[in-house]
Amino acid sequence: MTHVPKPGSPPSAVGGVATLPVKCASCDRPLDSPLVCVGCRALYSSEGLSHFQLLGIEPRFDLDAGELRRRYLALTREIHPDRGAAQQQDQALRCSAALNEAYEVLRRPQKRAEYLLELLGGPSAATDRSVEQSVLTETLLLSEELQEAHAAGDAAALESVRRKARARRDELAARSEALTRQLPGDESLRADLRAALNAWKYFARLSDED
Ligand SMILES: [Zn+2]
Repeated sequence: MTHVPKPGSPPSAVGGVATLPVKCASCDRPLDSPLVCVGCRALYSSEGLSHFQLLGIEPRFDLDAGELRRRYLALTREIHPDRGAAQQQDQALRCSAALNEAYEVLRRPQKRAEYLLELLGGPSAATDRSVEQSVLTETLLLSEELQEAHAAGDAAALESVRRKARARRDELAARSEALTRQLPGDESLRADLRAALNAWKYFARLSDED
């Protein structure tokens, strides 16, 4: 079998997965994803790989959304079940599913922050749903204001409450993102991040409510 490596893979992509097997076991080509070799199409198991590893990128909060999407689409094409040998189709389906899940999490800042928290020291915000009492009180009041504005059919009041909720949502998003960039940090930083992520969700829900 001859293998013609495809040009165009940036060297930095290989550097990003330095902790993984760096060469294809079948054709010896450097791998820029641990899932698939773009040289010979050999597929590897997605088991035990983080979402970042699946996409061949370094685990950090700040991602280039365009680059993330390009990598996702390129890998999806490479592992497409119809393009592999019959015995590889099951594995291709598993790889595709894992890749889809990884992309859905990493492309959303809130989910990406939660995932990083889980990956870099956890427990995640979804596991520990603690929210400060002041957040509960504040969202309860806003929720009541929303209901009143609804009942009164007061569009201006409704918009004013939503604007308050959105402003708080944006503040908490910025705070969560700033804390996520400091991960793994210590337990107190991670607790602050969990609280900020949970509060972010509360205000995001209120911002979207009708
Ligand atoms: Zn190969």
